[in-house]
Amino acid sequence: MKRFSGELQYECNECKHTTQLDFKDLDQESVGADDRQMGPEEHFELTLDTACPQCGADVSIKYDLYEYPIGVINMFEDGSRGAVAKGSPSIDHLDD
Ligand SMILES: [Zn+2]
Repeated sequence: MKRFSGELQYECNECKHTTQLDFKDLDQESVGADDRQMGPEEHFELTLDTACPQCGADVSIKYDLYEYPIGVINMFEDGSRGAVAKGSPSIDHLDD
């Protein structure tokens, strides 16, 4: 089993307040895989519905993350609403 962790910050679009989170606080779901030359490329969606602690605005954190080859985060992109999220996740391998 694996999980993504690491510092994540988001800046509220309304008040520009910055909040610190960890990727492991997000819901993490595998949403698909493509077969490529070096094996599967797996696509994960990391999401969290929250609210800005300063102004209360709704924030939907969403990160799309692609693991390819296995064990390497090839690409990630922020698709959050209500805020701009920044961070570089890393892969934690957990004991089953
Ligand atoms: Zn705010």
